[in-house]
Order: sequence, then C-alpha cells, then structure tokens
Amino acid sequence: MVEVKNLTKRYGAKTAIENISFTVEPGKIYGLLGPNGAGKSTTMNIMTGYLAATSGEVLIDGHDIFKDAIAAKKNIGYLPEIPPLYLDMTVEEYLKFVAELKGVPKKRRADEVIDVLEKTQTTGVCSKLIRNLSKGYRQRVGLAQALIGNPEVIILDEPTVGLDPKQITEVRELICSLKEDHAVILSSHILSEISEVCDHVFIISQGKLVLSDTTQNLPLHLHSAQSIDIVGQGDVEAAKAALLELPHVASVEGEALEKNMGHLVVTADSHEDIRAEVSTVLAGAGFAIFEMKEVGQSLEDVFLQMTADTYATEENEETEEETEDDSNI
Ligand code: ADP
Ligand code: MG
Repeated sequence: MVEVKNLTKRYGAKTAIENISFTVEPGKIYGLLGPNGAGKSTTMNIMTGYLAATSGEVLIDGHDIFKDAIAAKKNIGYLPEIPPLYLDMTVEEYLKFVAELKGVPKKRRADEVIDVLEKTQTTGVCSKLIRNLSKGYRQRVGLAQALIGNPEVIILDEPTVGLDPKQITEVRELICSLKEDHAVILSSHILSEISEVCDHVFIISQGKLVLSDTTQNLPLHLHSAQSIDIVGQGDVEAAKAALLELPHVASVEGEALEKNMGHLVVTADSHEDIRAEVSTVLAGAGFAIFEMKEVGQSLEDVFLQMTADTYATEENEETEEETEDDSNI
C-alpha cells in the first residue's frame, strides 16, 4: 500500500535521511521511532509530498507521490508536527474548508464533516473557534482534518507531543480505533508510546533505518540477551575466572563484599538460559550461591542500543539551527 524506496534527503552538506526503505500494509499501525533530529519529520514530509526528496521513490497505492501527486495524495491523510489549523475558523468551518480543498464532492461534504467530528469526538466543540480550544482538542481537530476524504493511509507526526496524560490516553485510543479502516504511521521519540500502540516499529537513527520489526520482536534485538545477578560466598576472583571460561558468557563483573561474600554480574552474549551452567561452574570454583536472579533488559535498552550513535555524537555537538526551508507546501 505504501512503498518507500531508497529515500535520501540532503540539506546542503547535511544528510537528513539516507537510503530509507520500508513498506506499509493496511490494517496495521506502524511506529517511526527515533530521537529528535533522527529524520522522522523529514521522512513523513516527503511521504506526503510536502517536501521533495534528493533521491528515492514513494508509492502510495502504486501512485508516485512526486510524479502522480494528485492521485497519491488522495490516499493520504497527514497530521504534520504543527497542525495546519486556521485559528479564526470554527471547527466545522475549518473541516468543511479542508473537505473542499481535498476535493470531496460538494453534496458529500456536510456528511463527511459529521462523520469525522464523530470519529474524533469533536461534535461537541464544532461551533467553537479553533483559537479557543485546548491543545488536546486542537490535536483532535488536526486528526479530523487528516481523516477527511477517508484516505487509506493516515500519517501522524508526533501526535501526542505537548498533551497531558489524560489527553495522551484519549488520542492514543483514537489512533488505535483507526487501524480497522486505515494503515496508520505515527512518529514518536518515546518508545513506550510506540510499543503500546504500534504493531510494527521502524527505528531511525541519524537518518538511517536501523531496525524494522514487529513490536513483539523488539526484545530479540538486544545484543546481550540477559544478565544474571548473583550474591554468594567465596573467592570472587576465582569465580570470575571460572565463569569467563563458559561459552556464552560475554562479561563478568565481580565485587568482594564483607565476610567473604561476593557480588557477581554475568552478562550472556545470547538468549540462552545459562543459569544451570553458571551454578555448576561456581560450585566447582568453591563459590556458594546465596541468591541468583535474572536481570532482563527493557525495551528502553533496545532503543538506546539502536540509537547509541546518535546520543554519542549529540553530546559533542551543538544543536544545529535549521538553515534552510525548502518545503513546497
Ligand atoms: P525529527 O523529526 O526526527 O526530529 P527531522 O526530520 O526534523 O528530525 O530532522 C532531521 C535532520 O535534518 C535534523 O538534523 C535537522 O536538523 C535537519 N533538518 C531538518 N530540516 C532542515 C532544514 N530545513 N534545513 C537544514 N536542516 C534541516
Ligand atoms: Mg520531527
């Protein structure tokens, strides 16, 4: 339904995104996850035809977003980072205006507006000026304009930024309800948001797609599958040396405690459960285990590992100012 092929965007010498490819199928919610500056908005602005790519291709239902823009855009609803709202219009006036812009036939416009007002639960505020709406309601109106024309693909750029926790829950529920009839792509720099809402995750870091997998599979991408935390009695150095002989042990940290006690943290290099071997080896080394527990790594760890480069360079780099604006809205 959506095919993104080898997308690259350069701003002068700066590469915002590089060689990004992915596909999107109907009936699923896709999350574009990455730290600030990773290239999420750039990717979405290109996919929706708001920005030209330096190279690459975007097909929406087979229509090229650059060469066949009108047909392609008919299938896309977009909520950009800053929703294009007209503050001096009422919600209803604005949505009618959007329906006209999107080419919804005149006799269907009123029904279409009623429909999206219902879907986004904004019927109650339809005669209010947008300027007088809370941020949560403005975001709903932003979603409503994306839904006008019933496009197959809905693209939402950081749809919950700036909302309070209650509004976040409501907007999330709304997004989940769209899945039945649309393919949804949303971006976020918050992992928990993506893992709660999305079926599939694309992680981008410094303009590159570093991971594409189902949300369920995310934990499998950890480099080190598990750590084991052990407290016991015996010679820590002897225990360490013995553990390092084991095939799946990547590293061991040891610390001697009072009364000949010791604390060990064993990190495995695979997903295999190595607790049995660890016990045997420690017994052989004269280290008596008092306590042993697995320390699982969180999804947060996957994200940090995948985007480690970004965070490493960010510390040395000053925030870059946006120097150029070549959007062709
Ligand atoms: P995200 O949405 O993931 O925070 P963006 O797509 O906005 O990231 O930006 C990706 C990179 O491209 C950033 O390094 C940003 O500074 C750069 N960038 C974005 N827009 C421009 C622009 N108009 N001119 C120059 N650089 C830009
Ligand atoms: Mg952005």
